[in-house]
Amino acid sequence: METSRRAFMLATAGAALAAGVNSAEAAEGTGLRLLTFERKDQPGARVGLAIAGDKVVDLVAAKKAGAALGFDPADMISLIAAGAPGLAQVRAVVAKPGETLALGDLRLHSPIPRPPRNIFAVGWNYLAHFNESETAQKAKQEYPAHPVFFSKASHSMNGPFDPIPFDPAVSTLIDWEGELAVVIGKGGRNIKEADAMGHVFGYSVINDTTARDVQAKKHGGQWFKGKSLDGHGPMGPWIVTADGLDPDKLHLQTRVNGVVKQDAKTTQMYFKIPRIIAELSAGLTLEPGDVIATGTPPGVGNARKPPEYLKPGDIMETEIEGIGIIRNTITQVA
Ligand code: ZN
Repeated sequence: METSRRAFMLATAGAALAAGVNSAEAAEGTGLRLLTFERKDQPGARVGLAIAGDKVVDLVAAKKAGAALGFDPADMISLIAAGAPGLAQVRAVVAKPGETLALGDLRLHSPIPRPPRNIFAVGWNYLAHFNESETAQKAKQEYPAHPVFFSKASHSMNGPFDPIPFDPAVSTLIDWEGELAVVIGKGGRNIKEADAMGHVFGYSVINDTTARDVQAKKHGGQWFKGKSLDGHGPMGPWIVTADGLDPDKLHLQTRVNGVVKQDAKTTQMYFKIPRIIAELSAGLTLEPGDVIATGTPPGVGNARKPPEYLKPGDIMETEIEGIGIIRNTITQVA
């Protein structure tokens, strides 16, 4: 375990030096790394695959060159909805990639740039984060018997290296919440725990960035608005398909200006992914491409003494072992 931890930290340091994007070498496993990107010479989002050596296979170009793809190669959700046959077609392209692009030359969008509906999210899914939460302490709440769900508006989705808007007229208490994102593949309703992992398409890194003052009591103590400001949900740098990752033992870190703020293992998740999917899908249909942010570990800024918040110029990095790093700069917009 110590060895893998050291390897993880080395990968982190190396990737932090890379300009703009994380090294593809930092991710492990055999899963596909599917990303949505834009070429500098041709506008418009397209789906690609990150392969060894920081190269990207452009699926739009592959289709033009004659690859048999039964989905829209400009639309990640179309690929996800195509299921196993779609992934098999992608693997066939990767086997003979032809021309590749340099990862560092591309602009990466969120793998799912415009989710058709809200991002689902789980509150208080790490006991230590529940314990540090003032709201929970004041209410003397018991740890929930069921996962606590909320959602983030679809425009909170943001690219893995894009700026996080900071508008002081709206919020000055912006906080970080690094989380493992689960991307749903096969949709369904009333999914059983035993079947749930068969509905997972893959995993990504998300930061459930939160405006604590908008979440606070003077705004009604609600979560939705404080979680839903435009661009306050950066995700990426890609989706690692489920066959390439064991989601239960991943090291997760959030860093601000290089200082570690959250450092945990997904093993500490109180409600595991099958339970989350089973409870969320009870009477609520999940669709291909739905994103579930699975909760944040302890170490958020709001719970620190004294509290810490993000300010313009700060660089927020969120990293999950086996997936990669997203890096966002807090940027004043007003
Ligand atoms: Zn969260």
